[in-house]
Amino acid sequence: MEQQQQIKRLRLVLFPLPLQGHINPMLELATILYSKGFSITLIHINFNSPNPSNHPHFTFHSIPHSLSEAEATTKDAISLITHLNINCVEPFKECLARLISNALDNESVCCLIADAMFHFTQAVADSLKLPRLVIRTTSATSFGIFPAFPLLLQKGYLPLQVSRLEEPVVEFPPLKVKDLPVMNMRNPEKFYELISRAVSETKASSGVIWNTFEELEQPALDSIAKQLSIPMFPIGPFHKYNLAYSSSSLLVEDQSSISWLNTQPPNSVIYVSFGSLAVLSEAEFLEIAWGLANSDQPFLWVVRPGSVHGSEWLEPLPNGFLENLGGRGHVVKWAPQQQVLGHLAIGAFWTHSGWNSTMESICEGVPMICRPSFIDQNVNAKYVSNVWKVGVQLENEILERGEIKRMIIKLMREKEGEEIRYRVSKLKDMAISCLKQGGSSYKYLESLVNHIHSLGH
Ligand code: UDP
Repeated sequence: MEQQQQIKRLRLVLFPLPLQGHINPMLELATILYSKGFSITLIHINFNSPNPSNHPHFTFHSIPHSLSEAEATTKDAISLITHLNINCVEPFKECLARLISNALDNESVCCLIADAMFHFTQAVADSLKLPRLVIRTTSATSFGIFPAFPLLLQKGYLPLQVSRLEEPVVEFPPLKVKDLPVMNMRNPEKFYELISRAVSETKASSGVIWNTFEELEQPALDSIAKQLSIPMFPIGPFHKYNLAYSSSSLLVEDQSSISWLNTQPPNSVIYVSFGSLAVLSEAEFLEIAWGLANSDQPFLWVVRPGSVHGSEWLEPLPNGFLENLGGRGHVVKWAPQQQVLGHLAIGAFWTHSGWNSTMESICEGVPMICRPSFIDQNVNAKYVSNVWKVGVQLENEILERGEIKRMIIKLMREKEGEEIRYRVSKLKDMAISCLKQGGSSYKYLESLVNHIHSLGH
């Protein structure tokens, strides 16, 4: 009997948040753990679902979200996540219980790995006596500020007040109040409540998996480990393991991005993308267009349909705008970003500083121009520009074509840009070497695998 149990294959159940920036790292993690001998099941909500046929080695189970049309199509991610944490409890519990009781004779479901923002999953896992690990898909540095929210509220840094935005937050140098991982919302209580639950249910978990590497974020990782007293597994960068990843893109990746890059000189192109959620005003969109046009550098620009208020796609551009640039600018709706950043023609990445984009840029040694929108992006941008010094930040509240042009020139043609490029190439080397045998992420992955085995017994 004992011998029989020893040869049981261990199955992991993964539960991603249905947003692009959370789905990508979860599926990368699934591929990494599959390569370590685990069987993988994904439970996903029937909304922004990953395509199972791209991942034939994994088993997929869909659960209903029961959101109204308005709740499901909201651009307010906090409200979406809050609703999902309420609506998904019962269908998730039912599905997980079924998976545990229907496990094949030679398999046992040994652990749940859930996105940290699905805080309700801890209570469900507890009720089914299943250990739960958490994946946090942002930087450790930004998450490390969340446990201090009560203090930041008590000290009056939060809620944000216009008069204090430029004040340093002495507890978290070099951040200023405007860099704190929050959103400018009319009713921030809902956000604080979500964060507080995410922190407490992460603390109650059996450990956190991070898409980062120790050398990059050691102080934050140490501080979180101390505060939450749970094991930490910084095993990133996920997408740089030498594995065959299938795309988990929810939008079609326009391959003309690559054929156009093939026609450009090395290190010349500014790649511009603000991720899957950020939205611009029409005025901001036009300043970006003119800033890029006036910089005289070639650019590849991702304009997600619906990402400019009041427009479907490129309608606000003046007639003939792109044609007049004589092929110097290429605009797509969605790009194969990891491939784009690895292309020789790319010279810089103008990003909203989402954590996946930041890691993907570091891993290809591409310097960044940062223009964060909200929450962790604020912290990431500050660390990119002021701590790791691998990019510059557009700090002015109002986007302006002159400043955009100056930043591009600084990064692409001036000495400061050369120094930034040198530093990001060093960080790239570090990111790659930590995955090699004996490297920090390599060792943390070994300890994660052992940890999961110990949870399974
Ligand atoms: N991405 C992509 N094509 C694009 C823009 C983004 O494949 O045109 C991917 C990108 O590689 C990253 C993810 O979408 O993995 C965005 O995640 P991030 O954390 O940077 O930002 P979010 O979308 O969550 O704000």
